[in-house]
Amino acid sequence: MAKLPLVDLKAQYAGIKAEIDAAIAEVLNQTAFIGGQKLKDFEAAFAAYCGVKFAIGVGNGTDALSIALKAMGVGPGDEVISVSHSFIATTEAVTQVGARLRFVDIDPLTYTLDPEKLAAAITPATKVIIPVHLYGQLANMPAILEVARAHGLRVLEDSAQAHGASLEGRRAGAWGDMATFSFYPGKNLGAYGDGGAIVTDDEGLAKYARMYANHGRLSKYEHEFEGVNSRLDGLQAAILGVKLAHLDDWNAQRRQAAEWYAELLAPLGDQVLLPYVPPGHEPVYHLYVIQVAERDALLEKLKAAGIEGGIHYPIPLHEQPAYRYMGHQPEDFPHTHQAARQILSLPLFPEITLQQCETVVAVVREHVASLR
Ligand SMILES: *Cc1c(COP(=O)(O)O)cnc(C)c1O
Repeated sequence: MAKLPLVDLKAQYAGIKAEIDAAIAEVLNQTAFIGGQKLKDFEAAFAAYCGVKFAIGVGNGTDALSIALKAMGVGPGDEVISVSHSFIATTEAVTQVGARLRFVDIDPLTYTLDPEKLAAAITPATKVIIPVHLYGQLANMPAILEVARAHGLRVLEDSAQAHGASLEGRRAGAWGDMATFSFYPGKNLGAYGDGGAIVTDDEGLAKYARMYANHGRLSKYEHEFEGVNSRLDGLQAAILGVKLAHLDDWNAQRRQAAEWYAELLAPLGDQVLLPYVPPGHEPVYHLYVIQVAERDALLEKLKAAGIEGGIHYPIPLHEQPAYRYMGHQPEDFPHTHQAARQILSLPLFPEITLQQCETVVAVVREHVASLR
């Protein structure tokens, strides 16, 4: 393992070991492995945290997306709009429910869905828009919702990277008709295995999603329709319940680390493009992403220094073999195409120290100097 990993989950566990171990022991003693009080408690706490009425724990963030689309009645013949600059889970969910995918480009400064590009992608078949709150910062939700409302479309927020992020004081998950979260271990709120959640203020959508995720169950032996088996288990819910209480502190520590990076990188001027935070946003820095020339060379230099960098994501979805059938050219989404060539994620996790950030920036500084 690198001396300085991109994400350090061991450091976090060390800080909460007693609480976690006690919560796990409680689940084991109750043998409440599926469903149970820990799940109920976590769902209620997470809904309140997001500022919505309902939260439904599911198996993972990918299932959360497809179940939410199902709940909104999306299926064959329908179209769903999202970005090409995301993890493939976002768009897999669209295909899984039988709908057709349409990409739009990102805003080059925030890396999130460009609302100006939305109208041109809307057709009579469009049903839902999925903005992705990438790297821990909300997409431009006011502008996206305005377009959605004008065209009678629903909005599903992919909040997998944005637990606790807010815009104008309103958190990820509280803007769209529905929103989904992933609790993959490396996310800002991560389980110790797979997990996910769907949140919404709409009782009907919540009810459908809960039933669909649990075999279309009305009761133990009554099935209203066919669904899937995608549940958040009791152990993960107990772990997440413990961790949710620390999330605001951890997100504040991430913001502190982002500040350190910004100060340390500022002297490098326009050689390094820093994350841009538009007014009103409070990001949670799931990732700290810069842009720099000769990115791959910098990644190698970091590796040689024992520092793990990352690229999120090196190949845009519209350039992936999986989406070759759509017939896109790389230049169809120029900002996405461009970002993919220059972005680099620096190590960032709540426990990272100023000294560790300095070590990282020293390598970046050297790299930039070598470019001149
Ligand atoms: C992690 C992630 C997902 C999928 O979550 P899983 O829990 O791994 O299925 C979806 N969308 C985005 C943007 C993600 O980062």
